[in-house]
Amino acid sequence: MKYADVIIDISHEKLDKTFQYIIPAAMEETLVVGMLVHVPFGRGNTLRDAYVVGISQSPSFDISKMKYIASIPESRLPVEGRLIQLAAWMKTNFGATMSQALKTVLPVKETVNGRTRKYVCLNVSQNELSDYLAKISGNRTLAARARLLEALMDNPRIEQDMAAAKLSVSAQTIKSLEKTGKIRVEEEMKFRNPVPQGVRKDDRKLLNEKQKYIVDSFCEDYAHGIRKTYLIHGVTGSGKTEVYMNMIENVVNQGRQVIMLIPEIALTYQTVMRFYQRFGDTVSILNSRMSKGERYDQFVRAKRGDISIMIGPRSALFTPFADIGLIVIDEEHEAAYKSETSPRYNAIDTAIHMAGLADASVVLGSATPSVVSYARCMDGRYRLFTLSDRAAGASMTKVHTIDLRDELKSGNRSIFSRKLQELIADRLNKGEQSMLFINKRGYAGFVSCRSCGHVMRCPHCDISLTEHTNGKLVCHYCGYETPMVKRCPECGSPYISGFRAGTEQIEQLVKRMYPQARVLRMDMDTTGGKDGHTRILEKFAGHEADILVGTQMIVKGHDFPDVTLVGVLAADMSLYAGSYMASERTFQLLVQAVGRAGRGKRTGEAVIQTYTPEHYSIQAASKQDYEEFYNQEIQYRTLLNYPPVCNLLLVRFSSVDEDALNRAVKTLPKPDESSQVIGPANASLYKANDIYNKVLYIKNPDYAILTGYAQRMEMLARTDSSYRKVNVQFDFNPVNI
Ligand code: ADP
Ligand code: ZN
Ligand code: ZN
Repeated sequence: MKYADVIIDISHEKLDKTFQYIIPAAMEETLVVGMLVHVPFGRGNTLRDAYVVGISQSPSFDISKMKYIASIPESRLPVEGRLIQLAAWMKTNFGATMSQALKTVLPVKETVNGRTRKYVCLNVSQNELSDYLAKISGNRTLAARARLLEALMDNPRIEQDMAAAKLSVSAQTIKSLEKTGKIRVEEEMKFRNPVPQGVRKDDRKLLNEKQKYIVDSFCEDYAHGIRKTYLIHGVTGSGKTEVYMNMIENVVNQGRQVIMLIPEIALTYQTVMRFYQRFGDTVSILNSRMSKGERYDQFVRAKRGDISIMIGPRSALFTPFADIGLIVIDEEHEAAYKSETSPRYNAIDTAIHMAGLADASVVLGSATPSVVSYARCMDGRYRLFTLSDRAAGASMTKVHTIDLRDELKSGNRSIFSRKLQELIADRLNKGEQSMLFINKRGYAGFVSCRSCGHVMRCPHCDISLTEHTNGKLVCHYCGYETPMVKRCPECGSPYISGFRAGTEQIEQLVKRMYPQARVLRMDMDTTGGKDGHTRILEKFAGHEADILVGTQMIVKGHDFPDVTLVGVLAADMSLYAGSYMASERTFQLLVQAVGRAGRGKRTGEAVIQTYTPEHYSIQAASKQDYEEFYNQEIQYRTLLNYPPVCNLLLVRFSSVDEDALNRAVKTLPKPDESSQVIGPANASLYKANDIYNKVLYIKNPDYAILTGYAQRMEMLARTDSSYRKVNVQFDFNPVNI
């Protein structure tokens, strides 16, 4: 016998509550997770709708008290069913509980959604109405009825509130009239629509040849029923968005719906406006500034079929459209597509899985594709398209790479190279804008030699060591430790130290060096408040400042036509971030930063300052050559066995009780022989908020072996007493380590 776990009520608070039923033998073949079934419920055994969220071989309580599933009312999977199936897949593939997964995919029901309006409508013919009116005229007690019916003679649909206010007809009167069948009351839900009205304006561009080729290839595949994943590798400004819009239009014209993901930070007014203009109010958006109610309204509108296109960050993936035909993921390399709470899902893989369930295609786009996605193009899993020129004719930025070691040797100890100083002054003279960019906030932790550029690295993991307050250099993958060095092991220079620089210091320095300049700063500290970062960007876009100093936030997705100079102060800060993804992140940030300069009519210049100009990330970024970067990076990943060559599972153990934590990590389940195990080691933040953290990394080319390990680990954590005070979390192919 088999047993089904069902949820009766899919409102959020109730998702934890599952009930188990016996699956009748006749249903065993057909019943799958996600299906809607009818089950007898409560003392009266009234039949209720329920969704199957799990199927198991053994009962979780006394069978003699268990009831049978009554029937399967429809064989087609409802929208919720598809999302529940997706949740089940996420639970397994990202190591979460079913309840966590369900809460991620099912929208939070909000009672504040759509205010309903009631309309009183004529339910009989005009003739019949005249007869009835003749009958009751003169009857004083029915005067209110007569008033309403006379009004309905002129206008067969009147809002109930209006009837009450203008005609003084009570709800009681309406109810009794409704009983006679002469009228009926219709309810209409009004949902908030975030799209400004009347902005529709078709200023579609005539696609250039390359854009046209991509759109045509996609449409041809689509027409032939071919569904797959495509990657558009196109430099910033090459017209990717224009391409997406044409693909979207094609799919929407076939009566299907589209989800378009954009990282929240890049979800700018400019981008969203282009979609409104093209698609009017068939498009809706989701963003974190909307209230819960507003967001829920958008899900309801999607489910009702009021809209066909949803634009939003990661969570928009779970829009309950009836028939999804396409999922577009712009800036697909962004770390924001990985969830940082359980289930720590990856929106790209989840989108691809969902596309499989819904018979949809997936289109990814980026100027700097993730190494994982590009590798999938190379092995034929995705189809690759390339756009290598800017669509509107703007020329590519001129890049200067400055070796800070040379600056030091020639006596310049400032954080600004001579070239950068010269160019900033030039821009101030011309009244053009500059951006100064620090690709990591504050203190980076790595230790490097300012004379030769040598960086201290872990001999086992080949990632940068981090300087700890106890004076030791530590690898936070494997826990390797070595005392802090006094002299550079490469060149003997005493100028070896932790690398520090903050946006605030830079801002002060700029103000001192260029007293006439108007300077704005943007980082985590200045962007507090609801629209903090938008306000700063708007000021800068409005030319209320000459120089914008900031962290990565300033290089993502914004278009400032007057910026003709971008300075990257120390490219090395993200290069030695102590992660196997550091080179990839650095390359992406540098290319994006460089791409900020000269988006208008004037050609831009960029200055990249570094202690290691020979590093391939910096070299390739200076030339804006993605392939050169990829070819080097994939060798490193292959050599060291990191994704995409291998899959990586990070298990995080945390506890307020240090002893309990130490005991727990001694009783780990034995990993498969083909797996490589690193750790357990102290996390880079070993103690934070009085919680102790340890990490374990397991590598295996076979993803399924890792999910299997996570399941055994999870079982152990649930049953073993040494885990009682220890929290265990899984992160598959983490991107923020
Ligand atoms: P991306 O999404 O790759 O950054 P966009 O689609 O935003 O590129 O295009 C960059 C700019 O070029 C936009 O102003 C857009 O209107 C313009 N553009 C795109 N395609 C064309 C085209 N075929 N002809 C003229 N201008 C275009
Ligand atoms: Zn040195
Ligand atoms: Zn190590």
